[in-house]
Amino acid sequence: MDLRFTPCPSSVPFVQAVVANRAGEIYELDEYAALGMAAGNLAPLATVETVPMSHGSELMRLPQRRPVVYNLRKHRVETLSEDPYSPGEPIYPVAVFNSPGYMVTRISAYEEQPDADYLPLFSYGAVGWSGEGFQSAAIQVDTEPRQDLRRMPREKILVGVRQMRRKMPKNRLRRHLENCALVYGCPAAKNFFLGRYEAPLPTSQSCNARCRGCISLQENTGIQSSQDRIKFTPTPEEIAEVALAHIAKIDRPVVSFGQGCEGEPLLAADVIEPAIRLIRKKTSAGTINMNTNASRPDILNRLFEAGLDSIRVSLNSVRPDGYSAYFRPRSYRFTDVIRSIDLAVLRNRFVAINYLNSPGFTDTPEELDALMTFIRQHAIHMIQWRNLNFDPLRYWQVINRIVPSGQPLGMERMFKTIAKRFPNLMHGYFNPPREKWP
Ligand code: SF4
Repeated sequence: MDLRFTPCPSSVPFVQAVVANRAGEIYELDEYAALGMAAGNLAPLATVETVPMSHGSELMRLPQRRPVVYNLRKHRVETLSEDPYSPGEPIYPVAVFNSPGYMVTRISAYEEQPDADYLPLFSYGAVGWSGEGFQSAAIQVDTEPRQDLRRMPREKILVGVRQMRRKMPKNRLRRHLENCALVYGCPAAKNFFLGRYEAPLPTSQSCNARCRGCISLQENTGIQSSQDRIKFTPTPEEIAEVALAHIAKIDRPVVSFGQGCEGEPLLAADVIEPAIRLIRKKTSAGTINMNTNASRPDILNRLFEAGLDSIRVSLNSVRPDGYSAYFRPRSYRFTDVIRSIDLAVLRNRFVAINYLNSPGFTDTPEELDALMTFIRQHAIHMIQWRNLNFDPLRYWQVINRIVPSGQPLGMERMFKTIAKRFPNLMHGYFNPPREKWP
């Protein structure tokens, strides 16, 4: 990918570039500034454009790639293959996987080496060193500590696991969530056993989309899926038992279908619809939500009838070609997704979009215009600004070829433009309980 550099006045303080060595040790390069990337656009990371790296964020060394940095002494962009202070010592780019609630504004700057493999399914935010700590190119879009690891001590999770084992010994869904919490470290499953916020209700083994970044199923792509897809279909009784246990324990509870460890929940409506009816027969409390690709408005209508309260619709773009380039729908069209959103609004359900953002595509003038038109035409209630967990260079190569776009405006500017233009629209990262709806 051709790289274009946008210089900054030298008076602006930058964060220092950080790299990793063979052993994975991460350190700063004194006379080099960190660069941020948005498609082929590079710019130094000014300290004011970054935030202290948040707790729970993870630093990653990027294999088969070289760091692209700014040489402050020679005033030029350089791609480094070795440590400038230790000739012969290979170095690698470093990126940050920000903790939940932080939206990436720039991607770590690097170049691929020939025959490089795909990067695993994470987001690769730009990061630098301020002299006191790591600084991340991100903005906080949600302050709720729902997935703050400091509030999820393992011993407390284990107490919850034992309680739920006694309460529902035969429930396979409870057993599945135990594995998610203790083995995969899934924060949603941990919250179920901790009795906090939102509980997950994975149900579906199949999907009618083929997202390039699907975390539960990757077929012959050379990419490792992050977790295995659920291998059974829970019964309506098993689903309702887990949901009711959570609702009974929590103030303002949320229970959600559509998790990372499953396919598309709409395709499991035959168990979800009776499960929702069982829940609503026992209680009117709590928010029953579905994270979905919204591909089937007909099925959604049945679930609203049964008592589904809210939906979160995943979109990487509001432009049909941009959407299809990533979701690769099998048996539905973008227009079906739109019909589902309009139906939900018509039926007074809460509608959030799970906006999978990638600087360099999301923040282009064309996507911004399309998003503003979309919000005007479809009265959604919230945007959840989520970082796209997919190899950024490979994503730009595909999406910018299929939907050519102009120069990125910057994610922060995009966010502020939307917030100003639509003052009643909620912004965040997590599914809000109905008590927080506008
Ligand atoms: S909609 Fe979800 S389950 Fe289906 S392919 Fe996309 S990420 Fe995977």
